[in-house]
Amino acid sequence: MLRGGISIGKVFGISIKLHYSWFIIFALVTWTLTASYFPSAYPNWSLPTKIIAGILTSLLFFASVLLHELMHSLVAKREGIHIEAITLFVLGGVSQITSEPKTAKDEFRMAIAGPLSSLVLGGIFWGIWFGVRRSNVSSAQFVTAITYWLGYINLALGVFNLVPGFPLDGGRVLRSLLWWRGRKLQSATRIASVIGQGIGFLFIFGGVFLVFTNYWFDGIWIGLIGWFLQSSASGSYRQLLLEDMLNGHVASDIMSRDCQVVPPNMTIEQLVNDNIFQHGRRCFPVSADDGVEGLITLRDIKAIPREQWSKVPVSKAMTPMEKLKYVKPDESLNTVLQTMAQNDINQIPVVQDRNIIGMVGRDNLINFINVMGELRKS
Ligand SMILES: [Zn+2]
Repeated sequence: MLRGGISIGKVFGISIKLHYSWFIIFALVTWTLTASYFPSAYPNWSLPTKIIAGILTSLLFFASVLLHELMHSLVAKREGIHIEAITLFVLGGVSQITSEPKTAKDEFRMAIAGPLSSLVLGGIFWGIWFGVRRSNVSSAQFVTAITYWLGYINLALGVFNLVPGFPLDGGRVLRSLLWWRGRKLQSATRIASVIGQGIGFLFIFGGVFLVFTNYWFDGIWIGLIGWFLQSSASGSYRQLLLEDMLNGHVASDIMSRDCQVVPPNMTIEQLVNDNIFQHGRRCFPVSADDGVEGLITLRDIKAIPREQWSKVPVSKAMTPMEKLKYVKPDESLNTVLQTMAQNDINQIPVVQDRNIIGMVGRDNLINFINVMGELRKS
């Protein structure tokens, strides 16, 4: 989810990204503030003042969302969880967390850090608003206007995220409490995500209701949030079931072992004609007398222009051992799946003592998942 986007830099080693959909919401918030909110609250403001206030408030709002995500990430980092990136998108921000917390306490601290920072930030903005609202300095009204809205939106963000439906922060808090009270993580996740899906449906119904009562804009918006909540709640539970299914099984359990070794001096044309067309295999360890040198796959072959196939040896086209992503035979299937997803590859070699002893492909994994699913049903 949320692939693509523009990287805008790194904070504490975490890369910050803007998803393309973020630009829509940024424009929408800025426009709403400039054309509707500020003009109705401060009719005496000049157009440039309204525009500057709109852009500045919008930027500070997204900085607040970023800070919220950053607080989650910093707590996670302290607990030894690696954070790949934070992405701002149309419905807020998401931290790309590569693993789940190890204990209920870790999960609780990580989940609560975001809403707490939003509530504190809201308090700070309203504190500033309270301090300057009666001031006679000419710029005071500008500060009052901005801080009031930012205080309100941050408090709303903090409260909304505390709603106890997974994967909202509040749902994670609920899950950590159930986990802490002795429930298994899987059953705690099931409860929290069922509530999450319920809240998602409530939002969808609420949104549809609003559309029919002429608040169509708010209606669509709330419906969209509900749909996102519902689908990510059911998605994250399925993800957990999958992890649970793969748990305890290792790469050597499902790898295919019929890898055909080819010599480094074989030409690509020979490889394609004699091995790929005839036997339908898709990848070949390249090996001479002194062990495996690399692996050649359909993807490597595609990178070589067809007219050179009769001249180029496989050793020139293969991915050499040093650059190869691989797993060990006793690697857990969860790690195998993660490595394949992170590197966007369809198959991964299983390597022992510098020898390719098998391959795990997407088809092996899907097969395994299907069989496990069938076995569970009976
Ligand atoms: Zn959060």
